[in-house]
Amino acid sequence: MKIEEISAPGWHKIVHITDGETGLDSIVSVHDATLGPACGGCRVFPYQSFEAGLEDVKNLSRGMTYKNALGGIPFGGGKAIVFADPKKDKSTAMLKALGRAIDTLEGLYYTAEDSGMSEADIQTIREETSYAAGMANNGVGGNPSPFTARGVWRGIQAAVRHKFNTDDLTGKSVSILGVGAVGMALAEHLHGSGAKLIVADVNKNSVREAIDRFGAVEVAPAQAHAADVDIFAPCALGGSINADTVHDIKASIIAGAANNQLKTPDMDQILKSKDILYAPDYVINAAGVISVGLEILGEWSHDDLNQRIDKIGDTLTSIFERAQREDRPTGSVADQLAMEVISKP
Ligand code: NAD
Repeated sequence: MKIEEISAPGWHKIVHITDGETGLDSIVSVHDATLGPACGGCRVFPYQSFEAGLEDVKNLSRGMTYKNALGGIPFGGGKAIVFADPKKDKSTAMLKALGRAIDTLEGLYYTAEDSGMSEADIQTIREETSYAAGMANNGVGGNPSPFTARGVWRGIQAAVRHKFNTDDLTGKSVSILGVGAVGMALAEHLHGSGAKLIVADVNKNSVREAIDRFGAVEVAPAQAHAADVDIFAPCALGGSINADTVHDIKASIIAGAANNQLKTPDMDQILKSKDILYAPDYVINAAGVISVGLEILGEWSHDDLNQRIDKIGDTLTSIFERAQREDRPTGSVADQLAMEVISKP
């Protein structure tokens, strides 16, 4: 196995891991370790090029720095990627090699699930290193999606309070793009709160389930952002707010689980100029990593976790209020708040 450091100004440490025997080709990126060891998931994806993967893991690890700081857990930001198609290239031997590589970092980086990686895969990695988390154990921790969904629901409540001056979601309409692990659980919370749901997914079975369980109405994935609703909740892939979609958005709130919702940084200002309240993605979707962080610290309990998740709403409220006071976009205010947490002695 070969582990080579890649120099990247502004990043704490980036290593490129290759292992001819198992076909492992991976990058671990630690953006910042001021608050503690870096923590963030591992994504398995067939990137078009090494540069595309490097760019993604750098951005994702920086996002984790901000997410962990505002999520109130003592962890820095890190992320790993594996250049592979999760459906056909992943093997036990490859995952074990990744575990051994992570172990050589001696606790600088803790890995967890991300897209293309399952809880069982994390168990396999864990056979080679203790620096892996997100596994259910005697009712502790495990699959972060239900926690993430609860955090997004709390975040939507905070956004509705700020925008419409009410705590009541009854009759509020929400367009959910992607009713997967998080989106479906979010739909359940919203339905329970009396919201009206519009759902879109490339997976027709998921759409059918949302219609049957929550009386949702279907919309085509390409039209979910343009639905005539109060809230647009992107819960599929990143980049759904972009130059092609932003001017069609009719919702007055954007609040969902997807990472990297804004395709380009200028979207933050454009949303502000259109008077659309944007709940910064890494703030509203932090509950999953908060759970993983508590699991690593050996401090996981349902009550503590739920209290921390419910605080996501308060964090968003303070971002919304500061953005309003300072006449700035919410995303830039969130970045600044996160930097303030990190630079505190
Ligand atoms: P998931 O794979 O379970 O669900 C994603 C859903 O989106 C699937 O149902 C899929 O069919 C659908 N989808 C994919 N591409 C689509 C498209 N082009 N149009 C419409 N639907 C499409 O993933 P998840 O765990 O629910 O995560 C959803 C998002 O939230 C991802 O961006 C993820 O990075 C982010 N996120 C998840 C967590 C977590 O705890 N799972 C935490 C933080 C952030």
